[in-house]
Amino acid sequence: MQENWQQRFAESPDVLLGASGQRTLVPVLDFFVGGSDFVTMAGPCSVETESRLMATADHVRQAGARVLRGGAFKPRSSPYAFQGLGIEGLKLLAGAREATGLAVVTEVMSEVDVALVAEYADILQIGSRSMENYALLEAAARSGRPILLKRGMVATIADFLRSAQVILDNGNPWVILCERGIRTFETAMRNTFDAAGIALLKRVSRLPVIADPSHAAGYRELVPALARIGAAAGADGLIVEVHPDPDAAWSDGKQSLDFAEFDAMMADLEPWTAARAQGPRSLRVTEKQALEAVAV
Ligand code: PEP
Ligand code: MN
Repeated sequence: MQENWQQRFAESPDVLLGASGQRTLVPVLDFFVGGSDFVTMAGPCSVETESRLMATADHVRQAGARVLRGGAFKPRSSPYAFQGLGIEGLKLLAGAREATGLAVVTEVMSEVDVALVAEYADILQIGSRSMENYALLEAAARSGRPILLKRGMVATIADFLRSAQVILDNGNPWVILCERGIRTFETAMRNTFDAAGIALLKRVSRLPVIADPSHAAGYRELVPALARIGAAAGADGLIVEVHPDPDAAWSDGKQSLDFAEFDAMMADLEPWTAARAQGPRSLRVTEKQALEAVAV
């Protein structure tokens, strides 16, 4: 007998794929996340200097990215590590959008910062450490901006879907789920990449799902393989850390790709992203569904 997934996740009814099979397409600037395009979001872990950010934005755009990532407010495991540039970082991101046409995704850590971050960002990122901060989820939802919700590092799929449901309950249907690795007994990688979680989320949920191979791996050597695995599991896109000089990065340098590595990763992904446009049928989104999704 087949597992009744819908029943298992019945606490999060609005994020589940209904009988009609209609999926949510999240509108960002002039494109969608969750449709036939595989959307790559790329950039540094933290916004550092203007020249580094601009060089990265230019490069990733030319290599096919649609969204620039970069943290201005950084949740760091150590209180002594670089905490981000704050509003200056947001301004640099907005400048890079202006110059390149890339959309901007950046983390918001506190509900008091939501209005400020929403002024500069096209997508609000809720970090792994904040997935269960319900006051933040509610405030971010009410901004009306699309939300990139990262899976908590010790969150089950059911926990993850419940947090997404909180955003929908607060009037915002534009949620992108992000698998970024979970904690297990294995310590050789920074986290354990849950590829099965991506496949399961695509099966049970109507929401787009993207993979973060950078935080899952922790080491840049592993990032391209995890990116391909994520795409093969059905992810609608990627969020990946890229830096002009990873060893000099102010945060997460070990897991950041340099420009040549990013280009190679994008080239290796091509067969997967091309295959996505044709099938598997369960992942295809029709034009009609897209229009319906926008009308929500
Ligand atoms: C990040 O994207 O830089 C980040 C801090 O990610 P996570 O919340 O997944 O640890
Ligand atoms: Mn990072």
